[in-house]
Amino acid sequence: MPTPGFVSLSPSLLAELPTIVGSDNVVTEGKGLETLSKDFYWYSPVLTDRIGERVASAAVKVQSLEQLKQAAALAHADNIPITPRGAATGNYGQAVPLFGGLVIDLSGFDRIIDISEGVVTAEPGARLVHVENQARPLGYELRCYPSTWVKSTIAGFLAGGSGGSVRSHGAACASPV
Ligand SMILES: Cc1cc2nc3c(=O)[nH]c(=O)nc-3n(C[C@H](O)[C@H](O)[C@H](O)COP(=O)(O)OP(=O)(O)OC[C@H]3O[C@@H](n4cnc5c(N)ncnc54)[C@H](O)[C@@H]3O)c2cc1C
Repeated sequence: MPTPGFVSLSPSLLAELPTIVGSDNVVTEGKGLETLSKDFYWYSPVLTDRIGERVASAAVKVQSLEQLKQAAALAHADNIPITPRGAATGNYGQAVPLFGGLVIDLSGFDRIIDISEGVVTAEPGARLVHVENQARPLGYELRCYPSTWVKSTIAGFLAGGSGGSVRSHGAACASPV
């Protein structure tokens, strides 16, 4: 049964996305799209019942700010809902596209730009494990992180995890060991 309120990408939008991210980074069907449409909501029988099976109309994997801006602008121009996704380890269904549209996978947009004076500057898909591993030799450690820190991304933790429930500069800060 189709998802109520499902929003499909138009053929012209589907044709434009590969020009931004390359055809290997646009997923429009099959297991790949199903996987990119899920997080760990199925841990909860309540959410499994309420969310059911939802699949995006398409997903793109972006690797730079420019790609992100262009993909988001195209979707916005067509009034297409966007679901950002990091490592999709969230267990409340926050990375599930409830109304189809476009999933934007940010896990490859992941450079750690700088760690200094107790502050990490990183692209959103940077994994916490890599941040921690780079911070340690500099004499810092992450002040808080989830038990899924080996997979999860810095933006996913701030937008969807407990990192977002403390002041975000506190969560993203690295403190002296
Ligand atoms: C077994 C298990 C244990 C867990 N333990 C913990 C724990 O100890 N503490 C804790 O806090 N959480 C925990 N979690 C939840 C989750 O793993 C973490 O919150 C994790 O940090 C989420 O990161 P992610 O990259 O997987 O985010 P995702 O699941 O990909 O995304 C989470 C939310 O952030 C949004 N998002 C992702 N990237 C961006 C972006 N760049 N811009 C805007 N929005 C974005 C998504 O749309 C989604 O709403 C656990 C989950 C499981 C399954």
